[in-house]
Amino acid sequence: MEEFRKRRQAGALQMMTVEQALADLVGIDSVSSRSNAELISYLEARCKTAGLITEQLAHVEQTGVTKINLVARSVVAPEIELALVGHTDTVPYDPTWTDALRLTEKDGKLFGRGACDTKAFIAAALTALDSIDLAKLKKPLALVFTSDEEIGCLGAKRLAAAKPFKCHYAIVGEPTSLRPMRAGKGYCLAEIVVRGREAHSAYPQLGASAIFRAARWIERIEQIAEELKSERRDGFDPPYTTLNVGLINGGSAKNVIAGECRFTLEWRTIPGQSSDHVLSKVRNAVADLRTADPDFVCEIDAGRADDSFETRGESELVKFIEERSTQTAGTVAFGTEAPSMIALGAEAVVFGPGNIRVAHRTGEFVPVDQLHRCVEILRSGIERFCS
Ligand SMILES: [Zn+2]
Repeated sequence: MEEFRKRRQAGALQMMTVEQALADLVGIDSVSSRSNAELISYLEARCKTAGLITEQLAHVEQTGVTKINLVARSVVAPEIELALVGHTDTVPYDPTWTDALRLTEKDGKLFGRGACDTKAFIAAALTALDSIDLAKLKKPLALVFTSDEEIGCLGAKRLAAAKPFKCHYAIVGEPTSLRPMRAGKGYCLAEIVVRGREAHSAYPQLGASAIFRAARWIERIEQIAEELKSERRDGFDPPYTTLNVGLINGGSAKNVIAGECRFTLEWRTIPGQSSDHVLSKVRNAVADLRTADPDFVCEIDAGRADDSFETRGESELVKFIEERSTQTAGTVAFGTEAPSMIALGAEAVVFGPGNIRVAHRTGEFVPVDQLHRCVEILRSGIERFCS
């Protein structure tokens, strides 16, 4: 921030390179557990210098930490033509990675926490913006910076709920190796508790095992996973909704009939299938089990249901990025902010420099050539959609 202030006072911002922007961004620690206020104030200063009108949408968490979404627009209008969306937070870094907050270059790669996910996209968007004459834009452009993507796309969801604008097209920054991604699976999670009745294990007839009940149910869930394979959506790997029981915990001692068993059920839905589709199959299985065991008691807390998303392949935005990146559109297996932008009316594409496979790792990096190409593609995108 200090460096940036000095450069701004020196009037040198217009000449700021995308590498300098990325170094500034990486230098500001914005791990999701912290407030993103410092990074937002940097981004706001950059956007104002470029001539955008900024608006902070702040949210104070129960812990007292402030999280901010920033909307920076070329004009204040109810509908944005093109939004470039980047999340400001990063995953934590290992304390032994001493250069995590200092951008370093080696062999054409730029290393640092967030260098790949997703500060490279943000640096490219800021640099593209600097080269645009806003007075010549005929349609509204926005840069949108969100909080808490890495812990459940919380900032983008708050933005979608607040509906501060409608949006026609959105490019959501994520490391896709500059391949446009026009669809992604949903992510749903339920925490499940199966109840039983504790008793001495020498007298099982006096109790009811929550673990045996859970086991019968989980076997049915595995059958549901098999059934779901017949509902296919080409272009995904694998091309159907998947289920996982990732955690299980139950019982109190080896010689006690288990009174309780808890497990998590996670499912990743293909587009076109609602999150309730799996949930109703899982509930039907319980109804079945109850016919043989009327005492079968359970609770299903379906706490998370992130939508899948799909933007049609003929979308002007999909076609434009396909042409400029010379890559055909694909699909992503990880959660993104695209569904929130779709909720604001957008045709959304996930796109950015760097590879998701090196994101979230010590030593994440973005290739310099991809960073530069991203600036060019975003610059031409602004011209194509807002002029
Ligand atoms: Zn990301």
